[in-house]
Amino acid sequence: MKPIQDIYPHLTTPRNVVITTHQKPDADAMGSSLAMYHFLTSLGHSVTVVSPTNWAKWLDWMPGSANVIDYELQRDRGEAALQQAQWVFCLDFNVLVRTKHMANSLRQGAYDRVLIDHHQQPEVALFTWGISDTAKSSTCEMVYDFIVEGGYSDRITPAIADCLYAGVMTDTGSFRFPSASASVHRMVADLKDRGLKHTLVHEHIYDNFLENRLRFIGHILLHRMDVFYEYNTALISIPKKDLLRYEIKTGDTEGLVNYPLSIQGIKLAALVIDRDEERKWSFRSKGDFDVNTFARNYFEGGGHYNASGGRSSDSLDTTVQHFIEALKENALQLQ
Ligand code: 5GP
Ligand code: MN
Repeated sequence: MKPIQDIYPHLTTPRNVVITTHQKPDADAMGSSLAMYHFLTSLGHSVTVVSPTNWAKWLDWMPGSANVIDYELQRDRGEAALQQAQWVFCLDFNVLVRTKHMANSLRQGAYDRVLIDHHQQPEVALFTWGISDTAKSSTCEMVYDFIVEGGYSDRITPAIADCLYAGVMTDTGSFRFPSASASVHRMVADLKDRGLKHTLVHEHIYDNFLENRLRFIGHILLHRMDVFYEYNTALISIPKKDLLRYEIKTGDTEGLVNYPLSIQGIKLAALVIDRDEERKWSFRSKGDFDVNTFARNYFEGGGHYNASGGRSSDSLDTTVQHFIEALKENALQLQ
């Protein structure tokens, strides 16, 4: 993988570009993809954003989201865009399995793949150009750097600013995680100067749910959370019947894993959801418990030091038992 800077001389020649991201894109994935979409379009490239799956409705406010192709729903259109692509930007993921049904196609394509991502352990051999930096708060921060370092700051429109802010805001837990560096705050100041409407972005993302989602949170905090004080850990496990009863949609469960971390002394918070095809895990930690390694070792996953995810094909009960066994094995680190 050559440094991302090596692509700058080629940016001035229009190309067919696809931008893609991980399945069930969150605000960082969708925000970075759409910011890059607006930026490359402004340079004269012909750009299509293809998401491996659907996304939360509360991301639909993002300028350009109506043009995003859902590969699961419109596979032919997604494949047609990939067939014509000369470049495929891969944003906010670094292993192809995270693109689900698109992975095979992405692996075989004759185009140049370009990586911009902040997760650990990238499959670098797949990419022609790229940057992988786990110290970065978000892929949106990296897309901002990419635009600014290329000398293109003046192309940051209010629409791009809103998309970038959404990803930085959510991936830093509203600027509370250690990754919210001085340069992140400087970037936000610059985005404000360029027309960012941060209050609106907050409202779009945090005040945009239906009543049932709040009732659902009440229900699971009361009935589905276990606290293991001996391991400074709390677990929320959500059975399928709860998802059906409260009509939970893509995106409604995002952020739930953070609730247990607000309990005094809790170092590890885990959330497992009984999805149709698998049991999906989320892990968050405070301080020196490495949930990237934890997810890799026990749940076929990965991510960051303090935020990761994984999966299991076992039943909900079995995977929860597996988690409790894993806690015992990690008892020392969780003290
Ligand atoms: P979340 O819990 O919000 O789904 O994910 C937390 C972090 O872990 C995100 O940065 C996400 O990209 C990463 N992540 C989530 N699930 C997986 C997974 O199954 N495999 C890997 N490698 N990373 C994951
Ligand atoms: Mn991210």
